[in-house]
Amino acid sequence: MNIATLKDFPRSNEYCPLFIQECAGFLRRHEHDNCAVMVTNDGRIIATGVAWIDELLFLQRLTFMVQQHYEYVSWWQAPADYVRNFVLDADGANRHQVVNEGAEAYATLAQQALIGIIHDALSKQASDVHLQCRGEEVTVTFRIHGLLQPQGRRNRTFMSEVMAAAFNTQADDHQELFHEHRTCAASFSMPMGEPYGDVRVRAQQSTCQLGYTVTLRVQQAISTEVSSFEALGFNLVAEQYLRSSSKLSDGLIIFAGPTGHGKTTSLAAFNRLFPQSRKVISLEDPVEIIQPNIEQKYIPETATPGSFARMVKIVLREDPDILAISEIRDAESAAAAVTASLTGHLVVSTLHASSPPAVLTRLQDLKVDVNRLLQNQVLKAVIVQRLVPVLCSECSLKSEQHSLAGVRTINPNGCEACAFRGTSGRILLAEVIAYESSTAIHGEASSIQATAITGSLAEQAFKRLLMGEIDFEHALEYVPDFQAYYRRQLKQGNSHA
Ligand SMILES: [Zn+2]
Repeated sequence: MNIATLKDFPRSNEYCPLFIQECAGFLRRHEHDNCAVMVTNDGRIIATGVAWIDELLFLQRLTFMVQQHYEYVSWWQAPADYVRNFVLDADGANRHQVVNEGAEAYATLAQQALIGIIHDALSKQASDVHLQCRGEEVTVTFRIHGLLQPQGRRNRTFMSEVMAAAFNTQADDHQELFHEHRTCAASFSMPMGEPYGDVRVRAQQSTCQLGYTVTLRVQQAISTEVSSFEALGFNLVAEQYLRSSSKLSDGLIIFAGPTGHGKTTSLAAFNRLFPQSRKVISLEDPVEIIQPNIEQKYIPETATPGSFARMVKIVLREDPDILAISEIRDAESAAAAVTASLTGHLVVSTLHASSPPAVLTRLQDLKVDVNRLLQNQVLKAVIVQRLVPVLCSECSLKSEQHSLAGVRTINPNGCEACAFRGTSGRILLAEVIAYESSTAIHGEASSIQATAITGSLAEQAFKRLLMGEIDFEHALEYVPDFQAYYRRQLKQGNSHA
């Protein structure tokens, strides 16, 4: 036997149905080691390195059987993850075609595959799993430390079953059954065992041109650790400003940024600043961080839109000093937040918007009279934040493309210290803008002043770039107006850190 290393991976539907039972049985017997084998429909026997050593006898027997059907048989070695997924998918797709197979066994298989995907995501510290349909296959991508990383292709027929398992049997707030041609959302808990514990998954499915996409947001067990602004990476000026804002008696404070850039964590850090003498009620969907000092209420906004707005009216009768709303996401919750802040409460919330001007535009879109909001001094501050990948200090490279000293770039191969990603963790950039209105005599014309408490996101990113901490491309991707700021700095010859 001449065993070659597999480079040209077969497509997920190129399995040989004759041997799939044999291969799936072998996989089940070796659940806890890296032994797996599969046979393709052109007579290739592909096994893991461990299988070729430990299970040679079995593979010789399999070879004999395969030779009865194929004139030319070849032997290959491939990574364990790949062979295992191939067998699972092929087994699933095959059972789908065999009508006699019990539906229950099939569902169990799909369930196992779902657990496998979530487990894989957790072990790689991924925050999201993206599944995108392309013809007969589904591409799997993980978001790890903010960056998308391809994880290979899976069989579409089987993956649709896996998604059906997620949406229809796991979901605890499901209203609709999974269907490739419909849009649906669900969330569910999965017990993942040590060291992960219970994991919460939010699934969103939508149709696209070639089929459908599914995004799974993976959240590890509810966190009880509330970090301080300092620990989160807010600079001293921002922290001091937020500390003094927490003493305000009324008004609206908004944390903004894209999904997955730490808004919820910042909101929890803000809630931590309030003394016991003030009553804080927090409306959340879902509750992600347990905060012992405040009254947290789970409001199923996703399942029942409008719940936030209804609940705001109710809790205002409970005499809170501070109201935290986990997200302003529609006109109703925006109106409720404004009403609460107009009636003598300090309201803190998050908003999906990329920059301070975008926050105002977004509020306008949600039917808020922004001019009135500013003139009445209701909107006190906007904090816009980003988490940007940090270059691995062990393997980052000196940048050849930038004339600026100190600029470094990602090593695409990475190193052992960064798990071959080239980046390690993320740093927080936060821009704080305070709003004030000065009313002229007789209360007529008033001017609104926006004060920059910190430098802009672009300015902060530029400093980090000069320190060799972040990659130019990441700054471009994550930081609004970075390119324009960068060009201006180059023009002014402002190349010293
Ligand atoms: Zn590295």
